[in-house]
Amino acid sequence: MLESTRDKAMAGEKVRIGIMGGTFDPIHYGHLAAAHAAMEQLDLDEIMFLPAGTPAFKRDREITDGETRFEMCCAAVDNVPEFSVNVMEVMRPGVTYTADTLRQLSRSKHPSLEYVFIMGADSASTLLRWNDQEALRTMASYAVVTRSTQQIPTETLKELRAAGFKVETIETQTPLISSTEIRRRVMVGEDISRLVPPEVERIIVARSLYLGLDDPENPLSDAFFEARKADLKERVNEHRYQHSLGVADTAARLAEIYGANVRKARLAGILHDWDKGYDDKGIRQRADELGMTVDPQVYYALPRVLHAHTAPVAIKRLFPQVPEDVLTAMDRHTVAAENMLDLDMVVYIADALEPGRSFERADAMREKIGVVSLEELFFDVYEYWIMHMMERKMQLHPNTVGIWNYYVRRIRQREKEN
Ligand code: NAP
Repeated sequence: MLESTRDKAMAGEKVRIGIMGGTFDPIHYGHLAAAHAAMEQLDLDEIMFLPAGTPAFKRDREITDGETRFEMCCAAVDNVPEFSVNVMEVMRPGVTYTADTLRQLSRSKHPSLEYVFIMGADSASTLLRWNDQEALRTMASYAVVTRSTQQIPTETLKELRAAGFKVETIETQTPLISSTEIRRRVMVGEDISRLVPPEVERIIVARSLYLGLDDPENPLSDAFFEARKADLKERVNEHRYQHSLGVADTAARLAEIYGANVRKARLAGILHDWDKGYDDKGIRQRADELGMTVDPQVYYALPRVLHAHTAPVAIKRLFPQVPEDVLTAMDRHTVAAENMLDLDMVVYIADALEPGRSFERADAMREKIGVVSLEELFFDVYEYWIMHMMERKMQLHPNTVGIWNYYVRRIRQREKEN
């Protein structure tokens, strides 16, 4: 409790504390908006976020451990002095019943203190089914907040009031955000930055939450990676296989350092040479079989780059769940492209700098990892490969001049800006 709230209660003044109970898996801007609206409209002194330990109505799915959900709540409310997080339900063993919590809170409650339990419309519609109606009715009042597009649930309010519950409504419409949607987005690698505070997103990323990593069908799971690794061993020779393992490891390390998705980098790394086992004739045939239209210059003169383009097409057919950006990174690992994404550069660099590669400038480039920007490192590697091919009088890919000029322009632009 805030010191000012305690002083008020001790002075016998009426104090109202809002309880924002939830699973908070994860906490998001919708919860925070509901709490802010409640704070403003219900004349509350403070709000206590109360993450549930083992939620009574959510026993059908795996829930993130209470400690992590508690930490996410703490991170989300950190900069609001009137918001706090209570660990009581997370610590209490067994199923979390709100009535038990209210009883526990009431034991040390000052008589002038009143609890207002804040809830969304869906929770309100289940309140009459919660354990111990008598305790729920007498130890707190309730406030229902709606999300955009939701109507005030008048029928529910009528029923609750008829059953003796004290219920208020909050006249606001909070953003249409749900924890379920956030978990879905994380699982498929979509952006959540507008749904949760940055500190919460950091915890989600750092702990690899919501990636469904136990599911072997999930392309970012360890099981999927291991299965493709085993497939690859059958598809390429030992040298190429060891190289791919090195690229997967190096890509994961680069991703960690440069803030790209580590699991996607690792997957693109292990898959990048998926089609490297074909000879020139075989890879042309492969492109034909996959129904690909290839620039004739590349098809006839540069068949050795075709594997980078056939592999993502083949993988997409076999495993449609593999994320598009992983396929793109595979596609760009040989010829590169203008406007490479971080993941593309990570895989491109890893292909050149994995521990199995030994060329003159390799160690010097390795030393730059984490010291220079990702793009700088990429361009260094790119430059090296072009020089290397020219020195050996090898044909360049028709896109090379365009890509080279694109990055040179970017370098010049940045020099001008600095
Ligand atoms: P939750 O999904 O984590 O959500 C927490 C609260 O925020 C809910 O009331 C929810 O409303 C609301 N909310 C979510 N997104 C919102 C948005 N965009 N705008 C406004 N409000 C939003 O929580 P939960 O798992 O349903 O649990 C809610 C509380 O009820 C917990 O304290 C839990 O322990 C309690 N509960 C107790 C019992 C029992 O004692 N037997 C049974 C069930 C629940 P919606 O409900 O509308 O999503």
